[in-house]
Amino acid sequence: MSDPRPLPVAWDGVPIAWEDWDYTPIIICPPPRPDPCPECGRIAPKATAHGTRKPTQWHGPLSAARCTNCGHDQVTDLNGDTTWDLDPLDYGPDGSWAVNGGRR
Ligand SMILES: [Zn+2]
Repeated sequence: MSDPRPLPVAWDGVPIAWEDWDYTPIIICPPPRPDPCPECGRIAPKATAHGTRKPTQWHGPLSAARCTNCGHDQVTDLNGDTTWDLDPLDYGPDGSWAVNGGRR
């Protein structure tokens, strides 16, 4: 992936500051789920990126995981331990908004 797709610019209207992608396998807590990618079905290594929203006392940190096989992104709200699968609309100028069905 020479030109990685940018992550959503905002989350429910709150701008996100994403750190650079980390492609090295890291030990994090809780450990990443070994689930296959919901897009391509493969258990491929995931790149991760950490995102923060301000003010941080109102908004928990976000963690993005990108499938290195197909590029599918999942974002986890580390406070709520909720994970969303992103779809193309999430990469628009308005960022990502929760929609019915739990999918963004
Ligand atoms: Zn995939």
